[in-house]
Amino acid sequence: MKVVTTIKEMQEEIALQKKCGQTVGYVPTMGYLHEGHLTLLKQAGKENDLVVLSIFVNPIQFGPEEDLASYPRDFERDRALAESEHVDYIFYPSVDEMYPNKLTVRAIVQERTEVLCGKLRPGHFDGVATVITKLFNIVMPTRAYFGRKDAQQAAVIEGLIADFNFPITLVVVDTVRETDGLARSSRNVNLLPEERRQAPALYKSLKAAKSLIEQGEKNPPRIVEEVTRIIQTETSGKIDYVEVYSYPELKPLNFLAGRIIIALAVKFTHARLIDNLMIEID
Ligand code: AMP
Repeated sequence: MKVVTTIKEMQEEIALQKKCGQTVGYVPTMGYLHEGHLTLLKQAGKENDLVVLSIFVNPIQFGPEEDLASYPRDFERDRALAESEHVDYIFYPSVDEMYPNKLTVRAIVQERTEVLCGKLRPGHFDGVATVITKLFNIVMPTRAYFGRKDAQQAAVIEGLIADFNFPITLVVVDTVRETDGLARSSRNVNLLPEERRQAPALYKSLKAAKSLIEQGEKNPPRIVEEVTRIIQTETSGKIDYVEVYSYPELKPLNFLAGRIIIALAVKFTHARLIDNLMIEID
């Protein structure tokens, strides 16, 4: 496994590997790896000759009041985990390497961002789309792996790949959870012990919504009401949103049909958690 810190070296290494006919699976992350990231790496390893992991906490996707400074980081731990997952390259650039000058051009995401995190985190997905455009041009992967936990991000990346004609196959991997149902997240370490005990209620509320739908419920506000009730009863977190949309368009629905997403965000003392469930309704 090689750790590469410069854009030039990463591009040269990949160009050489692709010349030899190697396919490249790419997993972009912000580090502090957990089982969710490792599942993406495992799948990339199965489907490609080479695996590239990037670790970069991208400052331009964080708002001024957000957790850029407290975002957990531990490169040596990440390096050991990546090694055990047979990663070939870790791309680990500095902020100066990625943004040496003020950007002259940046990506603006025009669809799929007026709801959920896009609405509450203005500019967040522009920052994501900008860095992913740069990273795609640096790593030039055959396939790129993203998690369904960040479903809105996956929808934005799907649009980015299609609109900007990246010759890259997007692979979206199901959410990996703790045994108690809590979606794995680097931010879970910032939960207070009592909040960590409450946090599985987020997934519990989504599962309760799913069983209501399976019993025939077609009314989106009823679903929002049930999810909200469970979170408010069982956690001390503050709900940022509980919303139901079509997926991947993220359009509101008058009644539930087709492929839908129920998504939520809840703020705890030092961590804002998101989760979602996708359901196909005939
Ligand atoms: P992050 O480091 O949080 O930016 O995440 C990097 C990638 O891992 C993103 O594509 C996430 O959607 C994905 N990911 C994060 N948590 C999970 C999880 N619990 N299950 C599956 N994928 C995840």
